[in-house]
Amino acid sequence: MKIAELFYSLQGEGSLVGVPSFFIRTSGCNLRCAWCDTPYTSWRPEGTELSLEQILDEWRAHRARHVVVTGGEPMIAPEIVPLTNRLREAGAHITIETAGTVAPPVACDLMSISPKLANSTPPAGAEGGWAARHERLRIQPGVLAELMRRYEYQLKFVVQGAADLEEVRALVCQLGAPAERVILMPEGVSPEVLRERSLWIAEACKEEGYRFSPRLHVDLYGNRRGV
Ligand code: SF4
Repeated sequence: MKIAELFYSLQGEGSLVGVPSFFIRTSGCNLRCAWCDTPYTSWRPEGTELSLEQILDEWRAHRARHVVVTGGEPMIAPEIVPLTNRLREAGAHITIETAGTVAPPVACDLMSISPKLANSTPPAGAEGGWAARHERLRIQPGVLAELMRRYEYQLKFVVQGAADLEEVRALVCQLGAPAERVILMPEGVSPEVLRERSLWIAEACKEEGYRFSPRLHVDLYGNRRGV
């Protein structure tokens, strides 16, 4: 599998925030978010080909039960099904971080689905014709419903501005997701931007009954790789 990075850290986002976890970051994505914070897995994918055995050996060296499989889009990685099966056989708790546009039959304990809102679409004229491709693919209601049916899940939205909330409400209503499964998280890679957005997003969560998620890894370590 093409792997951008393997590292041991704390889960920085979502309902398991703060849990020591081993991260497997695959390289390659079928979307191109304008604000992508891991462009080395999407716009300019980098990585090393590693066997499943090499990945599992590295995980075992850290003795973390929790494994977060992320990307890029890990659900398009060619060996994602055998990888998750091997992790499950070995006793891992598996979180998959996905945009929810495809649904291979993976083994997973928490499907962390982050449907991409309109704020993610790159500007017209973006390289590779990605504005139209991204916009066409970013929300797949049938796939989202299937993932929600099959797995324990959370719906985690990356929010930039107040206008995003209307889109979140509409999608949550369409999917019939209970409010307590919905998590709002500020978009941003600097502590200043995250703090400013966090304050009003927290109020929106109180209003709607959604959950708030910080970006703990950015708060703790800054916006860099391997954390
Ligand atoms: S889905 Fe994730 S990895 Fe892919 S472009 Fe968007 S933020 Fe980047």
